[in-house]
Amino acid sequence: MNLSIAILAVSFLPFFEARNQVANFVIDPPPEGKSVKPALPNLTVTETCPACDGKGELVLEEPDYGQAKGRLGPAKKTRKKCPLCAGRGKMQAFMNPSELALQVASDRAAFAAEHQGRGEIAVGEAFVPNEKYDSLDKERLKLVEAAFGHPCKKCNWTGLEPCRKCSGSGLVKCSNSDCKGGWAVVKTTTESSVRKSGSSSNGIRSNNGGLRSRSGSRSTVRKETKINVSPCPVCGGAKQTVCPDCGGRRAHPCSKCNGLGIKTKGSL
Ligand SMILES: [Zn+2]
Ligand SMILES: [Zn+2]
Ligand SMILES: [Zn+2]
Ligand SMILES: [Zn+2]
Repeated sequence: MNLSIAILAVSFLPFFEARNQVANFVIDPPPEGKSVKPALPNLTVTETCPACDGKGELVLEEPDYGQAKGRLGPAKKTRKKCPLCAGRGKMQAFMNPSELALQVASDRAAFAAEHQGRGEIAVGEAFVPNEKYDSLDKERLKLVEAAFGHPCKKCNWTGLEPCRKCSGSGLVKCSNSDCKGGWAVVKTTTESSVRKSGSSSNGIRSNNGGLRSRSGSRSTVRKETKINVSPCPVCGGAKQTVCPDCGGRRAHPCSKCNGLGIKTKGSL
């Protein structure tokens, strides 16, 4: 086995064993009041916020768009509560769907190996003891198979599908088209007319667009450009925002099986 595969703190083995117990109850019903409810393992994890690296705050360094002309000293640094994790440094998410797929495959293989090792016979996805198997007719075998169930084709037992909007990352690029690396750069140009006194010819338009008044003074337009740089109002300087579809959780309960992980009647 490849050692670079991350070992997740989750196992599907109890889930498979519980399903197998339920399947075997078709042959030997459980004692009164003793039922088994197969439940998927908890697939949520608390992860370090990728935007602030778990620090809970962003240190924003104001880029130079010429707004600080004449200002001395280093670029302005601003500390800001991380807008993606609200300062917690951590985010709740579903386990990485591709790592989860590997985990399911390896747990399923371990489950099968364990039961085959005991000499049990596969009935669909379930395993029944060898000596029981011979006593079962076709119809009973079908019931055993159905009681275990088959994996949902879309999510393969996990009950999750990766979020398509963010490709499973939980984050999306800032939606503000004017966002420049987390900053809003606003240029404002103010025009002011300035009067100059001058020449002698009255009421004649000059070549350079200024208007000569009767009094002989001339007005010209002076343009002044101011640049204002502030953290982007949408992403708050983080350049990205929490995915609006999955809320940063990277995945959704599978739409085909309603998050159950098994093939349901509607999806057959
Ligand atoms: Zn954060
Ligand atoms: Zn599914
Ligand atoms: Zn932005
Ligand atoms: Zn998403």
